Amino acid sequence: MRIAVLTSGGDSAGMNPAVRAVVKAGITKGCETYVIREGYEGLVRGNTTPPRPRPKAERHVPAERLARFGTDALVKNLSFGDGPALREGAGDADEEEEGTLRGRHIVRVGWDDVRGWMGEGGTFIGSARSASFRTLEGRLAAAHNLIKEGIDGLVVCGGDGSLTGADRLRAEWGELVQQLVAGGKITETEAALNSHLKIVGLVGSIDNDMALTDMTIGAPTALTRICEAIDNINSTAASHSRAFVVEVMGRHCGWLALMAGVSAGADYVFIPEQPPKSQPWEEEMCEVIRRHREVGKRKTIVIVAEGAHDRDLNPIKAEKVKDVLTEVLKLDTRVTTLGHTQRGGRPVAMDRILPTLQGIDAVNALLEATPDQPSYMIGIHENKILRIPLVDAVQQTQAVAAAIEARDFGRAMSLRDPEFEQ
Ligand code: ATP
Repeated sequence: MRIAVLTSGGDSAGMNPAVRAVVKAGITKGCETYVIREGYEGLVRGNTTPPRPRPKAERHVPAERLARFGTDALVKNLSFGDGPALREGAGDADEEEEGTLRGRHIVRVGWDDVRGWMGEGGTFIGSARSASFRTLEGRLAAAHNLIKEGIDGLVVCGGDGSLTGADRLRAEWGELVQQLVAGGKITETEAALNSHLKIVGLVGSIDNDMALTDMTIGAPTALTRICEAIDNINSTAASHSRAFVVEVMGRHCGWLALMAGVSAGADYVFIPEQPPKSQPWEEEMCEVIRRHREVGKRKTIVIVAEGAHDRDLNPIKAEKVKDVLTEVLKLDTRVTTLGHTQRGGRPVAMDRILPTLQGIDAVNALLEATPDQPSYMIGIHENKILRIPLVDAVQQTQAVAAAIEARDFGRAMSLRDPEFEQ
């Protein structure tokens, strides 16, 4: 089987370990392994230049590794590609030529190509938001490129948008293949050979915003980065008896804000799913912080998720919170927006373990997939790696956003956590 892996949407720590796991598990199971650069955009653009010749290094294969895996495929794939070139993005992708972007976005990789990726942040194969993949024309080009490269299994690592795109590609696959035949792009024989595309999703998202899984790849690292930042803020806040309003990521999901609040001992947290009960909200927040100050707290930390709002869906922004703390409580207040520092840096242990276990199961799911099964998302629940129908996870995630939009905050919370009580 030929399998390919891509990373899509916002990058997250743990994407490199995920790609590494898919490639190594794929090779171990006898597959040919590919990476697709720049997410769906790379899939749409495909390969428009021939592969560069890559010198194959003579290499010694340790006997114990051969004994452990013992497959011809492994030996064959050990040093297929060129690791450093792939890691630096050097060489092939996106060369500008006569006004058109040309290059190679679908690249065969071997074991050595992903060596040393476990502890590296971001995604070496690139991620992108692709407007063209949202169009039928773009998805037709993507299907054509997959068929041209002979790829029959695809692992997509990204957020809910990326997995929605994956679900759409899989749902439309038969129709896309027929349109490629009608347009003379592929033959009837090729269509028959490619009647089924196997897709598996891995959730790479720092927000932990995907339904039906307990944790997404990148969320533990982002939370750790936020905690480190608030620890640093804490010492200066306590020294000067200041208040800090910290804005963290999370458009529809308050997990990062809420868990950072617990980890850092914050005074007040604003999350999209559960706005303050009072409208207007200012006095409710001030009352809590006033109480904390009265019992001797020298510092105040308020955490605001970027998608926070009041019960009428008016945004609650960090600057507004600062003004309230300054004017009503007379606190010396500063705003810190953590921004992209939350994404960056080396993955913490959980963001190596989770993508490794899930990447291996993604390959198993591809190898076991049958046409009558749904596409799966690999999740984790109560410490067990699970396969969940992709369409269910995507629909429930969208239902949370819809409940917030409809101001049904109780439903938003119970969709996040069925045991939640108002
Ligand atoms: P993040 O959580 O970081 O926002 P995401 O995967 O949700 O990650 P999006 O920008 O929503 O990020 O989606 C990534 C890409 O997936 C889009 O640029 C687009 O190419 C594809 N995609 C998203 N939604 C769809 C859709 N409904 N149909 C087809 N493709 C889609």
